[in-house]
Amino acid sequence: MKIALDVDGVLADVIHSWILHNNKIRTPILKSDISEWDFWKKYNIDKFDFYEELSMCWKSWKTIPATENNISSASKELSKVGTVDIVTARENSTHNDVKNWLKMHDVTFKNYVGVMEGTEKAKLDYDIFIDDSPLNAKSMLAAGKSVILYNQPWNLDFPDTRAKRIHELKNAVSVINEISRNRSSLS
Ligand SMILES: [Mg+2]
Repeated sequence: MKIALDVDGVLADVIHSWILHNNKIRTPILKSDISEWDFWKKYNIDKFDFYEELSMCWKSWKTIPATENNISSASKELSKVGTVDIVTARENSTHNDVKNWLKMHDVTFKNYVGVMEGTEKAKLDYDIFIDDSPLNAKSMLAAGKSVILYNQPWNLDFPDTRAKRIHELKNAVSVINEISRNRSSLS
């Protein structure tokens, strides 16, 4: 089983860092207010500025918190049920910061794969994607991939129940085992 594990919003709580930055320069936002993937539109924040600021947050990678306490042990468990690659969409200049962050948080993975746009991920050779983006999830499901959607306020409205929702990363293990069982019973 080839598993693609996302970084932003699944392992790294980069939106936490972005909100701290935003709240110094604009109207304060709470994470729980972010109910859509493109929430920046609602707040009249320019898309380019938003992504530029996310990249800027990664420059201070040491201060970006993990989404949960157990990402290290959860990534180890995941690596027992399949080959886990980090698959992340971002600006090239931030890859080193992300790699440093993954090392600091002792995340287990095989390869690090960077793409420019999230929707490119669906074209890659993986069986299962663990992601938080409803846009990515849509393109992955359309490409016939299995999707495990990591719960975030911005994906709660994602309607397609083929995406299996998890609240904690460690819960992906049982979902993957179930996907494996279903696949072997089909073949
Ligand atoms: Mg993400």
